Amino acid sequence: MQELEERIRRQGTVKPGNVLKVDAFLNHQCDVRLFDHMGAEWARLFAGHQIDKILTIEASGIGIACLAARHFGDVPVVFAKKTQSINLDGDQYTTRIYSFTKQREYPVIVAKRFLKKGEHVLILDDFLAKGNALHGLIDICHDAKVVIEGIGIAVEKGFQEGGRTLRKEGYNLKSLAIVESMDPDQGTITFAHNPA
Ligand code: 5GP
Repeated sequence: MQELEERIRRQGTVKPGNVLKVDAFLNHQCDVRLFDHMGAEWARLFAGHQIDKILTIEASGIGIACLAARHFGDVPVVFAKKTQSINLDGDQYTTRIYSFTKQREYPVIVAKRFLKKGEHVLILDDFLAKGNALHGLIDICHDAKVVIEGIGIAVEKGFQEGGRTLRKEGYNLKSLAIVESMDPDQGTITFAHNPA
């Protein structure tokens, strides 16, 4: 998606440790017009799929998922919550996710009443690096016995293995921008040809 690539080029900064900072429009300050355009693009990419619900993870997934939902017939958005304590009364799906940026593992929950067996779900998130966050959401989907119709990502870092692994596992993964390389010294960012 050219508009997103241009914004990353213009306002993205490359941090040590393979971290791309895009908090001017995605991870801290939110450009809702851009989010709306991203939602329209995912709707085009997943046209023809039955989507009953969008599943994402807090915090940065929420804004993009809510704007995207407007393009999928205003379906509900459910976000997985990062939590300190897991309640053991069985009314939640739980998993653990290793955070690439925070370098620690944390528990994640979704209330069972918000994911029902047989629902068709689109998973959305802001970044894809090694795929840990998405695999956590996929685990929850499997526990809930929902159908994963597809996975939409804003920024995939194509030089990390998450995208390759998920495509090999057979998921219908569409990323709006795929970063091919980034150089923290020069600040340069290049994009892969994106078949989406
Ligand atoms: P993964 O679980 O695929 O390794 O990493 C994905 C998660 O880590 C995303 O949900 C995002 O929050 C965070 N993340 C990974 N890489 C980056 C990055 O380069 N920049 C930013 N802003 N977040 C990242």
